[in-house]
Amino acid sequence: MQPRDLSAHEAYVPGRGAEEVARDLGMNPEDLTKLSSNENPHGPSPDAVAAVESGAAEVNVYPKASHTDLTDRIAQKWGIDASQVWVSAGADGAIDYLSRAFLEPGDEILVPEPGFSYYPMSARYHHGEASGYRISKDDDFEQTADGVLSAYDGERIVYVTTPHNPTGSTLPREEIRTIAESLDDHTLLAVDEAYAEYADHPSSVELLEEYDNVAVLRTFSKAYGLAGLRIGYAAVPEAWADAYARVNTPFAANELGCRAALAALDDDEHLERSIETARWAREYYHDHLDVPTWPSGGNFVLCEVGDASAVAAASQERGVIIRDTSSFGLPECVRVSCGTREETKRAVEVLNDVVADLRPEATEL
Ligand code: PMP
Repeated sequence: MQPRDLSAHEAYVPGRGAEEVARDLGMNPEDLTKLSSNENPHGPSPDAVAAVESGAAEVNVYPKASHTDLTDRIAQKWGIDASQVWVSAGADGAIDYLSRAFLEPGDEILVPEPGFSYYPMSARYHHGEASGYRISKDDDFEQTADGVLSAYDGERIVYVTTPHNPTGSTLPREEIRTIAESLDDHTLLAVDEAYAEYADHPSSVELLEEYDNVAVLRTFSKAYGLAGLRIGYAAVPEAWADAYARVNTPFAANELGCRAALAALDDDEHLERSIETARWAREYYHDHLDVPTWPSGGNFVLCEVGDASAVAAASQERGVIIRDTSSFGLPECVRVSCGTREETKRAVEVLNDVVADLRPEATEL
């Protein structure tokens, strides 16, 4: 007995957790600074923590009211109808919902390369295929409508990511409009805004009024600090919003996650602080790292370090966990998440030391 042919499927490679790394290195997890998964260094909103605590005693009940309340609250935030909010288990879950709602076996999606690996994974899970458009280092990872459209060949879903993981580059609103207007009638443009709170561009949710072929992905994992609770959503056009009921996994968005997300949406102070820290940290990285970096609209910065795997390993040994972007096809780069001021300064110190120590002339001496 075997599962179906999964040879084309790749495993998702997450950033490593502090506990896991500490165990390997025989270190105390508290001595490690984890800047490999773009998490919120301020933790969750205290209001979200309180919501989880007070909800804990009621997790024997399926999440029905909390899901409805969260959907309504998100709809109110964006001025859209509740039916247009597809709450999911993280933005990852929303990607699956789009795959389920759109892909017939053999259908193709078009994704950025480098880019977030779950787009093609989800397509393959749903018996689809993926091809890519380049976001090129030679162009400083600039994203343009032309770059997407020159690779477009009638795929069923086209993904754009703004700010883009792992490069941090953003895709201007006018370029998104050009793409939406240039695609064939059967193609969905999925705009992944997992990091959009940190950027200064307007959300593409505003485009849903005008276009019936645009969906927007958002998450509570980053700026809202709720990655462990797995809540995200797709905002979709009214014209086909009712597909949710036909593809939704029953109760996929959990009770505590929905309650925490509701509380987090009302804590502007926590959100603003999170955004402010990330904006400060990415400038600090640009100004103080001794290696080339690219401007980032997200809560992370891509850095060119030479041998990323050696740099990430050495940095980890010195207590700072960063993301080697080899799995994104950038083996010469690492991605460093924005930490608190203290964590960010420590990361700069360690990374500069590691890069200096690993320079060829340093090893020859
Ligand atoms: N999109 C992008 C571009 C991401 O980097 C991530 C997180 N790694 C996600 C979506 C999914 O985030 P989550 O499932 O935690 O909401």
